[in-house]
Amino acid sequence: MVNVTRTKLADGRELLFFSLPGHTAAPVDDRRPLPARSPNQTELRYDRTTGQWVIIAALRQDRTYKPPPDQCPLCPGPTGLTSEVPAVDYDVVVFENRFPSLSGAGEMPAVRDGFVSAPGNGRCEVICFSSNHTGSFADLETAHARLVVDAWRHRTSELMAMPGVEQVFCFENRGEEIGVTLTHPHGQIYGYPYLTPRTAVMLQQAREYRNAPGSNLFGDLLAREVHDGRRIVARTDLFTAFVPFAARWPVEVHIYPNRFVHNLVDLADAELDDFARIYLDVLRRFDGMYSGPLPYISALHQFADTDAQRDGFFHVELMSIRRSAVALKYLAASESAMDAFVSDVTPEAVAERLRGLA
Ligand SMILES: [Zn+2]
Repeated sequence: MVNVTRTKLADGRELLFFSLPGHTAAPVDDRRPLPARSPNQTELRYDRTTGQWVIIAALRQDRTYKPPPDQCPLCPGPTGLTSEVPAVDYDVVVFENRFPSLSGAGEMPAVRDGFVSAPGNGRCEVICFSSNHTGSFADLETAHARLVVDAWRHRTSELMAMPGVEQVFCFENRGEEIGVTLTHPHGQIYGYPYLTPRTAVMLQQAREYRNAPGSNLFGDLLAREVHDGRRIVARTDLFTAFVPFAARWPVEVHIYPNRFVHNLVDLADAELDDFARIYLDVLRRFDGMYSGPLPYISALHQFADTDAQRDGFFHVELMSIRRSAVALKYLAASESAMDAFVSDVTPEAVAERLRGLA
């Protein structure tokens, strides 16, 4: 069982401490004079031409931007006056984002003709991987990485059960090149009130593929990658990491459990341990590619155990915009305007490079 301590911040937001064995969370009172939260701070607008929702979150323009290290809101704040984490220290914490893209609960509108908008319901959380301001996920001890996995799993279970949440997305943006505004190692967790466009497309593809009882698109792709072998980056008894056949990014690695599950909640204890290990392994290979840390996006694709999402196979998609020591891949006209990706490298060459970095 994961060791979790719940408390509240001055404006009522939830804060959860996840502690390593033998550690006890010791929160202090949050004494900051925070303004009261207003409900429905953001708006969803439906784009009839693409069938996609857009989140309009104007309040995020005012969020904390690259503060000096002594004013980091993610470092522990033992006085209760300086930080989002009022405590002397912590292992892993999760709290509701003060500048959320989505918050609250409610029904999504059914009619989507004309200009349809809806309150930006849902949930946005921040997860701090460690109290160490200058570290990164790749620097974590395996047991500490497992604690982050436990925290992701706990939040997945809880957010999936929240009214109005359709999809839970745990992710990390790492590196200023990606647009990170706080350098303290952290990720985010979104509970969307709708299925995101990419997830909806993937599930549609899997539905069309399902041709025999038990057949699963993702499982069959995984089996083919293992059989082919050229794009495998790392393997264990329980997990496989590979560069996908049609990789879109200069560096792209997908990590799958070797058996079909929908999400982290479905994984057994030994699998969660193995997941922490292979995830660290891939991140460390990333940081070995060039002289500095690799900027990356990590995206946990998780699915609910519902009829609409029954084919969804839990996996992580990691991607980087770095295409050489000196150059970044920008999403220019073909990618941004047409969703048509052009890759400058072969997936096989990237996999070979990453395999050699063990
Ligand atoms: Zn910090």
